[in-house]
Amino acid sequence: MKRYFLLLILTLCYMHLTAQNTASYPTYGGYTEYMQQTASKHKDICRLDTIGTTYKGRLLLCLKITPPLKTATPRPKFFYCAAMHGNELTGAFMLMKMIDSLVVNMQVFADDTLFPEIYICPFANPDGTWAAGDNDVKHSTRFNANLVDLNRNYPDIRAAGDDLSEVRQRETQAFMDYQKKENFNLSCNLHTGSEVFNYPWDSYPSTEATHADDAWFRHIGRTFFGSLNDPDGHYFTTERPDGTVEGGDWYVIYGSRQDWSTYYARCREITLEVSNDYAVKESELEDYWHKIKDALFGMFDAFKYGFYGMVYNAVSSEVLQGVKVEVQDYDRMNSEIFTDAYGYYGRQLLEGTYTISFSKEGFYDTVITAECYNGSAEKLDVYLTPKDVNIRQTEDIKVQISPVPCTDGIYVSSNATADCFVYDSRGVTVAQKRVNGGDNYINLQNIAAGVYTVTLFKDNKEIFSKRIIKN
Ligand SMILES: [Zn+2]
Repeated sequence: MKRYFLLLILTLCYMHLTAQNTASYPTYGGYTEYMQQTASKHKDICRLDTIGTTYKGRLLLCLKITPPLKTATPRPKFFYCAAMHGNELTGAFMLMKMIDSLVVNMQVFADDTLFPEIYICPFANPDGTWAAGDNDVKHSTRFNANLVDLNRNYPDIRAAGDDLSEVRQRETQAFMDYQKKENFNLSCNLHTGSEVFNYPWDSYPSTEATHADDAWFRHIGRTFFGSLNDPDGHYFTTERPDGTVEGGDWYVIYGSRQDWSTYYARCREITLEVSNDYAVKESELEDYWHKIKDALFGMFDAFKYGFYGMVYNAVSSEVLQGVKVEVQDYDRMNSEIFTDAYGYYGRQLLEGTYTISFSKEGFYDTVITAECYNGSAEKLDVYLTPKDVNIRQTEDIKVQISPVPCTDGIYVSSNATADCFVYDSRGVTVAQKRVNGGDNYINLQNIAAGVYTVTLFKDNKEIFSKRIIKN
């Protein structure tokens, strides 16, 4: 895990913190003004979204903070929320502190393409938080204005799409629409009432079902726990000695946002219970922030696992949205993900060797076996070949493949720059490479013996195709 930037941000955060002495829970007006002013002061890196409005007309605000772009490469997206239970205020304060730190330090992360775009919504249920009036947080309530618990109001994953929960609340629908639109890779929902890192599933104890990424979630949870600044070692030990628990092993609930985000929105959501008191005393807020901030910032490293990259149309080079990325013999219960509107995908996995298939209707599947290491995610860009490519043979193209039959790999020489694909008998891509000029080696060590087809494309046209045998 790369720590250099963590140290840097901690130093900068400390400098920033020492300039601010007062800590308090905001009024509704103070909160909305804070969000608007932060966005307008930092226009180059911030955008203020309105996720929706509540029954009482209050705003569900989300601040998007992005490192200044030096390249057009998309980044992973991390969504933070707090206080969906309106009386659980400690987390909302922490997210506002996080915003304060990020807006002054974001420049540092411009070159790190795995540093995420960060979306922060400190108050997810303002009608509950300011139930007694815009200037009063002392009488805040868990529920929204209709007395509904928003963390039991999401579509139930046991129903596989059917709606078993209560009438969908306006807040719930707004968050669902926003999360679907933004396609977050990871989200973190801050609650209070305990101190624990809680991960999917909420609907099942681990004896009944675990998420495919169970081990990765536990690894991230223990890393989080290990990064807390608490010399006494008590913080985050309320439920488990290592601070980490599978949701249903703690207690089963249905209709939670964690399960919906993870199952239906194909995100990975963590629930952080950040203080035993629903709202810690204002005089203690800075102490809590000091204890948790390194661990919260350390979670940005969660993207430095597994594979990420872009998926393109091999013929037109356009990015492809909605490509299913599935880890074979691994994914289950909707843990497969899909490329976003930019053709981007990010699949966090603990280190190992994985076989990943990329599929979309109208294209041949591509299946790639590759290794990844913890702390340095592998970039894996993929090109999918459309099934309706026009075939045209061109006289002046000269391509040679050797040796035939092959054992470990093939050399492809072509007098034209072209994209070379190796397909198995089902049309599945097993290897691909851009070739030009002399001998271009394509490693086939990891594929089974059999008959394969080597096909070259240039300027959107197939220019060469030949069968080879691999021993
Ligand atoms: Zn809660």
